Amino acid sequence: MEQKKVIVLKYSEIHLKGGNRKFFEKALLKNLKYKMYKLAKVTHTGSRYIVHDFDENNLEEIEIKIMQTFGVHSYSIGTEIATSYENVKEFCSSINLTGTFKVDTTRADKTFPVNSMDLSREMGGVILKNNSGLEVDVKNPQTLVKIDIRENGYTYIYMGENKALGGLPVGTSSKGLVLLSGGIDSPVCAVEMAKRGMEIMAIHFHSFPYTSEQAKQKVVDLAGLIKPYTNLNTLFVVPFTKIQEAIHKNCNEEYMITLMRRFMMRISERIAKENDCQCLITGENLGQVASQTIESMTITNNAIEYLPVMRPLISKDKEEIIEISKKINTFETSILPYEDCCTVFLPKYPIIKPKLEKVLKEEANLKIEELVNEAIANVEVIRI
Ligand code: ATP
Ligand code: MG
Repeated sequence: MEQKKVIVLKYSEIHLKGGNRKFFEKALLKNLKYKMYKLAKVTHTGSRYIVHDFDENNLEEIEIKIMQTFGVHSYSIGTEIATSYENVKEFCSSINLTGTFKVDTTRADKTFPVNSMDLSREMGGVILKNNSGLEVDVKNPQTLVKIDIRENGYTYIYMGENKALGGLPVGTSSKGLVLLSGGIDSPVCAVEMAKRGMEIMAIHFHSFPYTSEQAKQKVVDLAGLIKPYTNLNTLFVVPFTKIQEAIHKNCNEEYMITLMRRFMMRISERIAKENDCQCLITGENLGQVASQTIESMTITNNAIEYLPVMRPLISKDKEEIIEISKKINTFETSILPYEDCCTVFLPKYPIIKPKLEKVLKEEANLKIEELVNEAIANVEVIRI
């Protein structure tokens, strides 16, 4: 009997999506194929994806990639055999186990002559006969032997399953533009949106020469680190120095942060529109710093015309955010001590609850359109 080592993937919420199911399934298949390019083949059968034809030396790399793919609920490493009662029996006769176990069968192929309950019981008997000291425990087995008879003519046998990320496949919820600083929060907020199926592009505001090349490189690195989760392939780097100098020269310094943020929003909205992004995403978090009051956010939102601003971290504690950033491996890069454009010209006492009339009065001292246009004309596009 021919046997093949495979990885069996189960998907998460997709089965809930009714008429849209095919769309979600295709998106996940495309994402998996892209990630497994040159590493393995991926096929889709019913509610399973099968990763196969890989070099076992690459197994660890493949598992990491699966664990970075939203839409995968769990995966198991197992064996593929051609579906037949004899093959299943032969394979079960070769299983070595100790402790307690249980067999569980799923029969997607209804032409298979024995039903799930009977097959589980019969194969349980076969395994038991060949392993002295082994016991059945249907409630809390140490090993769950899964017999998965699929609609494609193959049966998959595996033990246990590894929980993956869940969420929805990236590309099923439009595209968003994340404002990516070098900090801890913004890479996390991008991944949080990707979890719900959103594809991500990134924009960064850079204040060269006040901020260094290394500060920019750090953001490029962060973009690379979140790419596996978000399908991010483009980072827009906007020169921000002139705008900051103009604000510094012409406006009340207390409004520096508020005015800077409004410029970031205006520029981001324009870039988003040009690139088919349906929202802006920031790592803002209620009350974390002076500029992150609800009053400040209202004033920042007011600078843009129509795109919504998503703030997926709005209610999270710093500790929770750090935990996620460690999990997605951005933490060590985020804490590298390079300056950020927001720390340049930082006022001693920033306005915490800005008033729109006053903000507009300050902005009357600036040539907003001109500054925005010039920044956009000089955007650097970096492919990630
Ligand atoms: P982060 O950890 O993401 O830097 P933060 O806690 O330092 O966030 P702020 O500096 O107030 O908070 O920034 C709030 C949000 O504004 C960031 O999460 C990011 O989305 C955006 N932002 C700030 N600075 C920049 C920048 N230089 N380029 C792009 N986006 C920025
Ligand atoms: Mg920051």
